[in-house]
Amino acid sequence: MKYVSTRGQSGAVTASQAIIRGIAPDGGLYVPDTIPTVDGAFISGLCAADYRARAVAVLGLYLEEFSKEELEAIAQASYGDNFDHPAVAPTHILDDDTAYLELWHGPTSAFKDMALQIMPRLLTASLRKNGEERTVSILVATSGDTGKAALEGFKDVPGTCIMVFYPRDGVSQVQKLQMATQEGRNVNVTAVNGNFDDAQTGVKKIFGDKDFEKVLDGRGYFLSSANSINWGRLAPQIAYYFSAYCDMVNAGKLEMGEKLDFAVPTGNFGDILAGWYAKQMGLPVGRLICASNDNNVLTDFIATGVYDKNRPFHLTSSPSMDILVSSNLERLLYCRTGDAAAVRGFMEKLSGEGRYDVGKALGDAVRAEFTGGFCRDSEAKEEIGRLWQESGYLMDTHTAVASRVLRDLREEEGERRPTVMVSTASPFKFGAAVLEALGVVTDETGPALVDELAAVTGRAAPKPLANLGKKPVRFEKWVEKEDMESAVSEFLS
Ligand SMILES: *Cc1c(COP(=O)(O)O)cnc(C)c1O
Repeated sequence: MKYVSTRGQSGAVTASQAIIRGIAPDGGLYVPDTIPTVDGAFISGLCAADYRARAVAVLGLYLEEFSKEELEAIAQASYGDNFDHPAVAPTHILDDDTAYLELWHGPTSAFKDMALQIMPRLLTASLRKNGEERTVSILVATSGDTGKAALEGFKDVPGTCIMVFYPRDGVSQVQKLQMATQEGRNVNVTAVNGNFDDAQTGVKKIFGDKDFEKVLDGRGYFLSSANSINWGRLAPQIAYYFSAYCDMVNAGKLEMGEKLDFAVPTGNFGDILAGWYAKQMGLPVGRLICASNDNNVLTDFIATGVYDKNRPFHLTSSPSMDILVSSNLERLLYCRTGDAAAVRGFMEKLSGEGRYDVGKALGDAVRAEFTGGFCRDSEAKEEIGRLWQESGYLMDTHTAVASRVLRDLREEEGERRPTVMVSTASPFKFGAAVLEALGVVTDETGPALVDELAAVTGRAAPKPLANLGKKPVRFEKWVEKEDMESAVSEFLS
């Protein structure tokens, strides 16, 4: 199996090379040139296995250069005590045809951990396979969650170090504290006097500086990124769709072979695309419900075949879905057409005019595979309150978007199909909005909200969030945006 670029102007590479590069030299995203398929026996086998073994079996189909033993060791280290649930990604069964796949039991209490706990190990193994001896230095500009998840993923991983820049006044108090108290010998966190765009631009500039690259090379370092378009982040996500299917079968809620729908709170289209891969592989997936918040670009795209980011940007209480450009959609467009020139055209239009039209045939093909839907911020909050009152199940603001979209769909259609909601964050991570949804008025801010939500609901907060206020602050430094490169140089001296 080779990996090819969606834009067709870079050569094919191996899986390990795709993981090292992240983005293809022509600006495209790497996709496998064939999608492996599985049969019923494969899925039955997974049903008898634990999460680690499920992940190894699915990943092995995409990462042919990795031996089974190698993947087992990686999965063991990635999905162990760092998760606070023995099932790693447990499926919470709500009723006969509704469940919540909880992807937030990892160290940062959000679904990015499912990929970022394993990706650093896949990356270092890939570097070894390609004879790289230098230390990889990960640079991240973050508006919050990704930075923390990347720090936790790379902390103390041999052969790597990581430096995260965040906007000094652009992240929440909890997010800031999560990063400032980061542990690990190979990590650095620095605030930038500016907004997220300034931090992002600064990082891009550092990546583009050839002289600096030579300086770092002389010191035994090279720079890389860990962003969500890396195949090493997408592939691990395919496994949890198989895992949820098996959990439903094991719980007696589904016959083996029966179709299961998934409702996915979507931003960059990475999570739901992993579900699409699972379906192409032969997992009996019914429909994939792409749930958006007020930033409903994807809902419109699925309905019309026109992707148009020229619209107001809404700040919502599901901030990880406040996205107008869903990068991973490019992979779907390529896989559905096999036409790299067409994809190049769409992406050029997107960066030029902010809009592209995929035409009727491709639009129909997308609509046949994805059901789009969105809800307002107030509707998602209503859903949190309703579920808590009716079932005593507490969910976060992102999961609530999918939950609400499904509820509306079921009402509209007058039928209920077995559906798993992909639950992407712990409710304690978004305490302020969840408390509001429960009708609790509070003066608390920051980490105190975690305790307050625990007190109101009687549910235990994840340990890393509960202890946040007690951890020593390690990183207090901030720099002007012109000085980001010197900060990197100092860290890598
Ligand atoms: C990143 C994120 C999402 C969106 O996932 P995509 O892969 O970008 O579609 C949803 N919810 C939470 C909590 C997230 O962190």
